[in-house]
Amino acid sequence: MSARTPAILRMSQLFLRTLRDDPADAEVPSHRLLVRAGYIRRVAPGIYTWLPLGLRVYRNVERIVRNEMDAIGAQELQFPALLPREPYEATNRWTEYGDGLFRLKDRKQGDYLLGPTHEEMFTLAVKDLFSSYKDLPIWLYQIQTKYRDEARPRAGLIRGREFVMKDSYSFDTTDEGLERSYQAHRDAYTRIFDRLGFDYVVVEATSGAMGGSKSEEFLAVSAIGEDTFVRSPGGYAANVEAVTTPVPDPVDYTDIPAAHAEATPETPTIETLVDHLNAHFPRAEGPWTAADTLKNVLVVLRHPDGRREPLAIGVPGDREVDAKRLEAQVAPAEVEPFGEADFAAHPDLVKGYIGPGVLGETAATKIRYLVDPRVVTGTRWVTGADIPGSHVIDLVAGRDFTPDGTIEAAEVLAGDPAPDGSGPLELARGIEMGHVFQLGRKYAEALGLQVLDENGKLVTVTMGSYGVGVSRAVPVIAEDNHDELGLCWPREIAPADVHVVAAGKDPAIFAGAEQLCLELAAAGVQVLYDDRAGKVSPGVKFKDAELIGVPTIVTVGRGLVDGLIEVKDRRSGERTEVALDDAVTHLVDLVRG
Ligand code: ATP
Ligand code: MG
Repeated sequence: MSARTPAILRMSQLFLRTLRDDPADAEVPSHRLLVRAGYIRRVAPGIYTWLPLGLRVYRNVERIVRNEMDAIGAQELQFPALLPREPYEATNRWTEYGDGLFRLKDRKQGDYLLGPTHEEMFTLAVKDLFSSYKDLPIWLYQIQTKYRDEARPRAGLIRGREFVMKDSYSFDTTDEGLERSYQAHRDAYTRIFDRLGFDYVVVEATSGAMGGSKSEEFLAVSAIGEDTFVRSPGGYAANVEAVTTPVPDPVDYTDIPAAHAEATPETPTIETLVDHLNAHFPRAEGPWTAADTLKNVLVVLRHPDGRREPLAIGVPGDREVDAKRLEAQVAPAEVEPFGEADFAAHPDLVKGYIGPGVLGETAATKIRYLVDPRVVTGTRWVTGADIPGSHVIDLVAGRDFTPDGTIEAAEVLAGDPAPDGSGPLELARGIEMGHVFQLGRKYAEALGLQVLDENGKLVTVTMGSYGVGVSRAVPVIAEDNHDELGLCWPREIAPADVHVVAAGKDPAIFAGAEQLCLELAAAGVQVLYDDRAGKVSPGVKFKDAELIGVPTIVTVGRGLVDGLIEVKDRRSGERTEVALDDAVTHLVDLVRG
């Protein structure tokens, strides 16, 4: 609440039309409700307009984010969204970003882009102005519109092509300094997400196995999320991309018979193979299962320079290759399907019966062959014999074949052990809301950001990068704060503090409601006042109030003759009669919490 008297938002004049029906293109509740309640309108796929109520909510989110960033001493600045090509060329991202980048030309045919993220600009700005270790550390941030030509814009503002991000960057000379900067941002994020009012988890985002620097994501826990994360009873939590497989010890294989190829006609799938094995090759240890088979999946990697590289991945047959885990492992290369033309170019590959016999950099196909970490020396497998209708049984890793390496690309299944030994993993879904990341010296090196240290020696600066999805927060809060009637905003986020409904035709009701609104506004309360007269019935007004979701709904109606108004909590539905004389004090107390 501000010291100045806030203006009363009058529904009779407000630029708002609530909708009775769900918009046809809205798949998730937040999108449906934000459109129906008149917060946003779609302009193009992944591109939206904030209407007045929406803008108020959006600004409340922005205020919280700014407030917590300022509190840790980060300094706000703002870069343009329209940027020249050169800095992004220097870091190779002009190319690496692929189709996700909006590129454009000016009238002189110069190359420009709409910024998808601003590491380059921040790095260059610090290089431009600072030259000594004494200037560091420094933390800079902006709250700014980003552009990404997302392949699948989705769920309204959750995955937009134009969206607002708070991005900050820290600059330090030492690794310990970076660690401190990272912690400060992580703490600020905890406070931001606590205030925004949705359920979230902090997950590890890059695996130690990749040798990546420290990175964590703040995920809103939500069934509509596109990210899968795992957690264990012992407190381990990670993005599914970051989960590492505990590597089993090598197995003694001295008693395993020599590998033998067997006819397994018509068994191109794991299911048909397992059925066939159980029918024709029963074994003492019990029935064959998909986990006994080694499935070899082929893909093509497209490298940033355009080179196409075939890759074979061996996973236990009870698991699929997880596209996101694979993509995370091979980035910046992109994964493409291994097509008919690729098969034609590799006649040694027998579709449905591909085995390690022809895979590997030194084998017939020369196709790099990486296997799941569970495929350790001594493990025995049933796998393709590279002959149509034939599989090899008792093929032992390390004895009969040696892959080129391992890859964390197999899907993670519920019940898999947590890498830190903290128990079986549970899978859940989330929406990435924030990301804290130790970038290290990559950008500083690429762009030559160095400062003089205590000894007058040039050292390369180490950086952290920290993002919050500011516009995404609005639908994410809505996902976690609604019911079948509409939105139920947390107080700090709501477009107004109270929603006053004048219910009835009697001019005295309107006069009483008007007076109450003026007094509330004078007390610093933000009021949304449904002053619509004429044909708008109290029923319609109440429905709109539930839909819009201001936390407190005040009805000035029949009770007024007895000096009473009704105060309703939007979330709990609880109603209280309050004497008109006490109304302002009562409501101010409520609003101030
Ligand atoms: P995602 O995995 O969801 O595509 P990202 O990892 O590409 O996100 P970052 O580059 O880390 O995103 O951006 C920082 C934050 O910006 C994300 O945590 C997310 O909250 C937000 N964000 C990213 N892409 C979008 C988008 N298309 N629409 C809305 N918000 C986004
Ligand atoms: Mg991210």
